[in-house]
Amino acid sequence: MPDSKYLIVGGGMAADAAIHGIREVDSKGSIALIGAESDPPYDRPPLSKGLWKGKPLDTIWRDTSKQAVELYLGREAKTLDPQNKRIVDEHGAVYTFEKLLLATGGTPRELPARAGRILYFRSLQDYRTLRAMAEQGRRFGVIGGGFIGSEIAAALTMNGKEAVMIFPGEGIGDRTFPRDLSKFLNGYYIQQGVQVLPGQSVVDVEAHGEQVVFKVRDEKTSKICDVTVDGVVAGIGIQPNIELAEIAGLETGNGIIVNEFLQTSHADIYAAGDVAAFHNPALSRYIRVEHEDNANTMGRVAGRAMAGKPEPYRHLPFFYSDLFDLGYEAVGELDPRLETVTDWQEPFRKGVIYYLQDARVRGVLLWNVWGQVDAARSLIAEPGPFKPADLKGRLPAKKA
Ligand code: NAP
Repeated sequence: MPDSKYLIVGGGMAADAAIHGIREVDSKGSIALIGAESDPPYDRPPLSKGLWKGKPLDTIWRDTSKQAVELYLGREAKTLDPQNKRIVDEHGAVYTFEKLLLATGGTPRELPARAGRILYFRSLQDYRTLRAMAEQGRRFGVIGGGFIGSEIAAALTMNGKEAVMIFPGEGIGDRTFPRDLSKFLNGYYIQQGVQVLPGQSVVDVEAHGEQVVFKVRDEKTSKICDVTVDGVVAGIGIQPNIELAEIAGLETGNGIIVNEFLQTSHADIYAAGDVAAFHNPALSRYIRVEHEDNANTMGRVAGRAMAGKPEPYRHLPFFYSDLFDLGYEAVGELDPRLETVTDWQEPFRKGVIYYLQDARVRGVLLWNVWGQVDAARSLIAEPGPFKPADLKGRLPAKKA
């Protein structure tokens, strides 16, 4: 029976960051990690970005195993008994702990369509599968216009493949960007050679020999047409893996609820990363963030807290993406339903977009503008009130 001082469930970036956090405080305490994937922790962002631009695969590994940790990979924690501090995996193996971290991440949402042959892209194994598909095929359907869809369509195109993007909304990234920028991205992707089918839903997917034919329905006209491709990859969002927490009777909502020290409703059980919902003081609300900076920063803070050095988690995480030769960093709430103030230096190529609510800045998009993330965080923390005119020229911040 693996018996450890610190037990981590999950094998992603938050888990690895937590192990480093524990080791900053406690160099000797035993640590065990149970991970569903058979790979040890790795950096996830390169799977849809850098690895398609020549970054070598062996650069993505974290050095988790150098931290004196028992790795139980390819295992799934099935039950959690908080009173007896025990976890049981799918083979019946029992793991006990003094402190537990739930860094269980999320599972890709799937289409209701009768659909084998769709690769829901999330893991390193999915990357390997898509690479193998790309060796064989020439034309790919990419379902979803969010982070995965936009990055994978660009990655395939930059690797000489044809990509057909299908999504129900009007524009690429339309849950993040204002309408005009999202519409611009449709045109920009088309210029780069991507076939963009906005306002379309996939209703069925069928294998036809080596090829896949999927039926897409136009949201406005209900007209259905066939799209034939060599493979289909999808990114239509994830659902937080809260099942273990639910079994244990921990407080959950949109994720596992944690306090400022990242403890769940059980004081010796912590949660971090994509699965954890935490209160952010700058935004004055609970948020759950599915990006790298949050996984790394929150994981480390959770690990340090588990090892006896709790600090409140007040970090406002940033995120970033690359879309062909465009790139951005962003902080806070990028909800295009908010009032937006656009400050282009060059329209759609370089500039800053501010997202406002009740005369406060809630989010900042730094579009091909670099080195301004901290200044954006400070702006979001300011009480305001801000008028649109106050914000023009506010970032890039002037050097002191
Ligand atoms: P996402 O960014 O939430 O995007 C979901 C997309 O799926 C949206 O474009 C949505 O379209 C579309 N969609 C929803 N239902 C659909 C349907 N039935 N048919 C076709 N499209 C549908 O999720 P994701 O791209 O899957 O990414 C998964 C997670 O990985 C996210 O948490 C993301 O934050 C993270 N991730 C982050 C990065 C980064 O930080 N750069 C990169 C990759 C992944 P509409 O908006 O048009 O409804």
